[in-house]
Amino acid sequence: MLLYNTLTHERELFVPNEPGKVKMYTCGPTVYHYAHIGNLRTYIMEDVLDRYLRYSGYSVRRVMNITDVGHLTSDGDTGEDKMVKGARREHKTVMEIAKFFTDAFFADCEKLRIRRPDVVVPATTYVDEFIRVIEALVEKGFAYEAGGNVYFDTSKLRQYYVFHGFSEEDLAEGVREGVGVDENKRNKADFVLWFTKSKFEDQELKWDSPWGTGYPGWHIECSCIAMKNLGERLDIHCGGIDNAFPHHTNEIAQSEAYLGHKWCNWWVHVLHLNTPAGKMSKSSGEFLTLSLLESKGYSPMEYRFFCLQSHYRKNLVFTYENLDNAAASYRKLVGRVAAVMREGGGGEVDEQEQKELAKGFRDALDNDLNTSLALTALYGALKSGANAATKLAAVADFDRVLALGLIENAEKLNEEQQKRSAAAAGAAEGTAGFSDDPEIRAIEELILKRTEAKKRRDYAEADRIRAGLLERGIALTDTPGGTVWSKV
Ligand SMILES: [Zn+2]
Repeated sequence: MLLYNTLTHERELFVPNEPGKVKMYTCGPTVYHYAHIGNLRTYIMEDVLDRYLRYSGYSVRRVMNITDVGHLTSDGDTGEDKMVKGARREHKTVMEIAKFFTDAFFADCEKLRIRRPDVVVPATTYVDEFIRVIEALVEKGFAYEAGGNVYFDTSKLRQYYVFHGFSEEDLAEGVREGVGVDENKRNKADFVLWFTKSKFEDQELKWDSPWGTGYPGWHIECSCIAMKNLGERLDIHCGGIDNAFPHHTNEIAQSEAYLGHKWCNWWVHVLHLNTPAGKMSKSSGEFLTLSLLESKGYSPMEYRFFCLQSHYRKNLVFTYENLDNAAASYRKLVGRVAAVMREGGGGEVDEQEQKELAKGFRDALDNDLNTSLALTALYGALKSGANAATKLAAVADFDRVLALGLIENAEKLNEEQQKRSAAAAGAAEGTAGFSDDPEIRAIEELILKRTEAKKRRDYAEADRIRAGLLERGIALTDTPGGTVWSKV
């Protein structure tokens, strides 16, 4: 599989450290608010990567943190703790807030069919571990105490700006600029590992440490949780592109300083979901959550489909019009799968043919996780000359990765249709049930749909159905006893 690596700015052939095994770390949510759909895009695309690695036969161990302390309102070292701020807003304790929004996050994930990582660690349960690693960093000379806080000394690294390839001169210039620099820092890029001094006195969560009572910085949590659960060498670290700097840059700095060798081989970043006005955020414009989309009638699977239609390394623009298009395509896709099911008696699965259908699907995902081409391969399978059983087997197989609930929702659709047919047959006394002839049955179903549309006064839909049938040479006549049809 070719997988883009932010470290090298290239698509590279993915090879894990240990054959057949993948150690994968994901930055989890900061649980002071609901996740917005831009955050969820990142988790959906990471989920596709996780699922595809498993599909390809790797045994994957995936770890994620929950940031329930120490993430300041700025990604630098200033501002208020987001958790404390959230708690104040909601008149709750920090831990109540953390629990509520952690549950809300996983509820969203479940609706979106995002696999729960194998290990999930709230940062507040690992404080001893953070202290242990910070102590080691101080001992090794990579960290220093100043003004009550412990800082990481970026000047001790050969290269700090790993993702950007900045030079030492850039870094030095940055220091000389000296604008808004924390006076305790030796270098502008240095960052806090442990706070005991915060201008916000009401920090609720504090722990004893060798440097005084305080709380950890945000970056140290991911390094420690990853190293503790996945060992010294990580295959893939993923997150949103906004985490590349400073968060991931700092994670690499402190992990490699601590370990004394390279830590993680692949850095996978999902690009932004933007609104037409720019970057999506919690603070500006409509706060787009999954629940909001649901309240507007969109299903979580329609949103997942919307995300899968574009490549994870491209910015995606969210508009309701774009989502409408994706939702319509998704419903059509489910309808097509349902139609294949109704063909029924499609014979046995032709395994050779199924393998061939899967090849296009794998090629797409092997090419830096091209989900949009993978969907094309799915349509290709449905259009192919394979029998119904083989098509359905291919859909079920691809959906292990796409996780769009295709089989389940197609079954539901067919059940609903059957129920409606039965109800209609019962209601329309004197008219027989549906014909066994599939062609006649299709006409009868459309007539029923039109009758229902008329009942709810959707005359546009009713007319559309009538016109569609006429195009196929079927004329409808409404009579007091119901609608009858004839060939023209
Ligand atoms: Zn992280």
